[in-house]
Amino acid sequence: MTDVTVVGGGIIGLTAARWLHEAGARVTVIAADPPENTVSAVAAAVWYPTHQDPDPRVLAWSALAYHEFTRQAHDGVPGVLLRRTRMRVDDETLPWWAPAAGDIRWKDGELHFTAPLVEMAAYLPWLARDLTVVRRRVSTLDDLPGIVVNATGLAARELAGDHAVEPARGHVVLVENPGLDVSIRDESRSLYIHPRSRDVVLGGTFEQGRGDLSPDPSAAEAIRARCVEVEPALGHARVLGERIGLRPTRRGGPRLERVGDVIHCYGHGGAGMTMSWGCAREVTEAALRVF
Ligand SMILES: Cc1cc2nc3c(=O)[nH]c(=O)nc-3n(C[C@H](O)[C@H](O)[C@H](O)COP(=O)(O)OP(=O)(O)OC[C@H]3O[C@@H](n4cnc5c(N)ncnc54)[C@H](O)[C@@H]3O)c2cc1C
Repeated sequence: MTDVTVVGGGIIGLTAARWLHEAGARVTVIAADPPENTVSAVAAAVWYPTHQDPDPRVLAWSALAYHEFTRQAHDGVPGVLLRRTRMRVDDETLPWWAPAAGDIRWKDGELHFTAPLVEMAAYLPWLARDLTVVRRRVSTLDDLPGIVVNATGLAARELAGDHAVEPARGHVVLVENPGLDVSIRDESRSLYIHPRSRDVVLGGTFEQGRGDLSPDPSAAEAIRARCVEVEPALGHARVLGERIGLRPTRRGGPRLERVGDVIHCYGHGGAGMTMSWGCAREVTEAALRVF
């Protein structure tokens, strides 16, 4: 049996660990932070390859994840939902990621498709069930047992010495759900409205290179106001809170590469959930030489 140490307990590390475990590896996850303190827990976590270049790898990873999340939603996996989505775009040609997006089509000047959505508070524990998770911060990837998966997100900048990794600050506002069940997205305005089971995620901001988590009430109010303009039903929705996180972006796109006994898998920017299962499959392939 192959020993694998996965460093990182966000969506990338836990999804890889789950697939490796199912494939028969003996997996230990090392994570510095509890799941609720990861960037993954801040994510709106809706399937969409935002701010990604039209890269065939991204398309393949996203397509596999789309398929897997759809299956999980039908199987009732905790926290996994499917949302009809209306996306505002200027250009009437289908985007590069359309082949991955299931039932995508044009309707009334918008793109309509079904988007999987994940509620991390339920989903991350589901991924981690029956895995061995050790709470520890490592200072190096050397000297860890077995094959090592580096799924440390933004921390890969130091752990892998990769200066192409940098934060992109994101801010979302959570409000009560006034009965919405359709997602709305307008990338040109960095605007999204994602109804979940109990609340609605209103977004957002994408500040490339900004790495602080300081509160910004005026940004939160601007997000809310833009969303109310698009969906007036949100006008009286009670604000439940806000979340700020640092997306692990990487110049040139995500890194998924085996170097010796280390498999690097980080730099998913604003689309870690979107690519998670595709990357997990490739990590498993690289670790166990299967498929
Ligand atoms: C506001 C916002 C909205 C978003 N919306 C979406 C969306 O709708 N769809 C989507 O697909 N993505 C979205 N994202 C992006 C998504 O959150 C990220 O791509 C994803 O969370 C990256 O996951 P990760 O596992 O690589 O990193 P993380 O979640 O940051 O996990 C990193 C893990 O590594 C561990 N770690 C770090 N350093 C060490 C160390 N030295 N030793 C041990 N462990 C260590 C941490 O403790 C953590 O467990 C959003 C992000 C933000 C901020």
